[in-house]
Amino acid sequence: MKYEEIRQQVLDAILEASEKGLIKGTSGNIAMRDPKDPIIAITPSGIPYKGMTAEDIAVVELETGKWIDGRFKPSSELPMHRAVMLARSDVNATVHTHAMFATIMAMGGENELQPITPPQCEFTPVGIVPFTMPGSDEVAERVVEKLGAAGRAVLIKNHGMFCCGRSMKAAMAATEYVEEMAVTTFYAKLLGVYEPMPEEGVKKMKALIAKDQAV
Ligand SMILES: [Zn+2]
Repeated sequence: MKYEEIRQQVLDAILEASEKGLIKGTSGNIAMRDPKDPIIAITPSGIPYKGMTAEDIAVVELETGKWIDGRFKPSSELPMHRAVMLARSDVNATVHTHAMFATIMAMGGENELQPITPPQCEFTPVGIVPFTMPGSDEVAERVVEKLGAAGRAVLIKNHGMFCCGRSMKAAMAATEYVEEMAVTTFYAKLLGVYEPMPEEGVKKMKALIAKDQAV
C-alpha cells in the first residue's frame, strides 16, 4: 500500500477522536501531509470509522485535490484541510470535529476562547469563523484567514472546530485542549465564576512553550 505510514496515522487519530467522544458517527475528518511527496491522506466521506482500515483512507494530490488512491472518496471537507496545508508549510496535520462544547461556544459570536489553564495557552487565540456552507471554498478561505500565520485552532459557527499542528500528535493535542477550553469556559460562565488566565500569564506561558518547541 502506498503512503501506508500517514494513512495509518490518520486512521489511528480518527479512532482515537471517536473513542474520546470528540467525533460522533461519521462527522469530523482528519488529514495528514506526506513528508516527501506533495500529497495528503484524508478520512473518506460518510464511511463509519469503526472497522476502517488504512487502505480505506483516501489519498489526494495537495496542489489539485485530485483523488488518486483509496477505495472511498475523500471527505467533503477536503477543501478546508487542503487550503490550510497549502497556506501553512508548518502544518502537517489537520483535524476537524463537531465536538460538543466547541460547537456550543462557537455560537457565542465574536468572543475568542480565552485560556483557563496554562496548557491551553499553546492553542490560543481561538477565533470564531462565521457560518458558511460546509465543504465550500468559502469556509476554507475563512478558516485560513482566521488561523493566520501561526494559529492552531478556530471555531466555526453552527458547525464545530478546526485544529492543526506540525504533527498528528500536535493537531490532536490542539483538538483536545480546545474542547477542554470550551468545556471549562461553558461551566465557568454558567456558574458565574468565569475568569480566564491573566494576559501577563498567557504571554509568559506562550514564551515558555515557544522556547521548549525551539529546542
Ligand atoms: Zn464538519
